[in-house]
Amino acid sequence: MKELIKKTVLASGVLRLVSPDASAAILMYHSVLSDPARYADSLGGIIHSQSEFRAQMELLARDYHPVSLDEVVHKLISGGSLSKRSVVVTFDDGYADNYEVAMPILNQIGIPATFYVTVDCVEKRKLPWPSRLRFAFRSTKLPTWTDVRAKTWDLGTPDSREQAYLASCDDCCQRAGAAQEEFVATVEDQLQSRVPDELTSLMMTYDQARGLAHNGHIVGSHTMTHPNMAHITERDAAVELAESKRHLEAELKIPVPHFSYPCPALTPHWSERTRSQSRAVGYGSAVTTNGGVVRSGDNPLSLKRIRPTKTAAGLRWNLECAFAGRIV
Ligand SMILES: [Zn+2]
Repeated sequence: MKELIKKTVLASGVLRLVSPDASAAILMYHSVLSDPARYADSLGGIIHSQSEFRAQMELLARDYHPVSLDEVVHKLISGGSLSKRSVVVTFDDGYADNYEVAMPILNQIGIPATFYVTVDCVEKRKLPWPSRLRFAFRSTKLPTWTDVRAKTWDLGTPDSREQAYLASCDDCCQRAGAAQEEFVATVEDQLQSRVPDELTSLMMTYDQARGLAHNGHIVGSHTMTHPNMAHITERDAAVELAESKRHLEAELKIPVPHFSYPCPALTPHWSERTRSQSRAVGYGSAVTTNGGVVRSGDNPLSLKRIRPTKTAAGLRWNLECAFAGRIV
């Protein structure tokens, strides 16, 4: 019934009538794989299947106006008006499948994309910490886990494991760099479980990042170690912003003016302080995970994005609602 109502609303065109002025929708993807279920215990629900992704990109090319992030940012800064129903495709984290699976589809259909890389994960060949913790909590054989405040968590059911995992994320997201690595390694030791080494091949290499850039796509920074930037110290935030930019620029030999805020746990995940820090380091744009479209006059250092659902029909609904001014 719900689907029928959605179809009727879309077919009527009523959402287009209420669309306010021109705007751009920045879509946030992570991973595209042929078999998402295979990595559910590490990457979780952030994977689009290859066929779903292709169907969504075909929808964008057919019914919307795919543009590059550079174009949107340039228009925001220059005061130029955004093309109606513009969409920007972005990817967070830096998975190898972005290069191996998503890029051939994007190139074939002719959609420019932006790929935000977690630098430490690429350089040290390790999954972002939320995936490492998820795997440890889902696969441990132990019945309980004790957190840093000496609270003991039951691990007897999938639900209780998820609660314990989310609690660990709230603690871990407030740590960066070596302190974060120590936290994750300690939890893995406590739970006597860690991601298999072969899963590190899920992260892209610098050669692949260079390949994305050589194919006309944008490569941006997603920090060094994927903390919640609003919940770490000012000094740590400065390192995450500056070092990731410096490493990427040295490896790719191109300017890296685009940044993406990780949103691993807790809110908010950016602040006025991080916004001015990002500006001081030399970023010209930053995307967040706050929902909504970009409109003329928005601050390019805290751009809203849209989480694409897993089907083409669902994405169409997301976009029509977003362009009509409804947060999705
Ligand atoms: Zn991320």
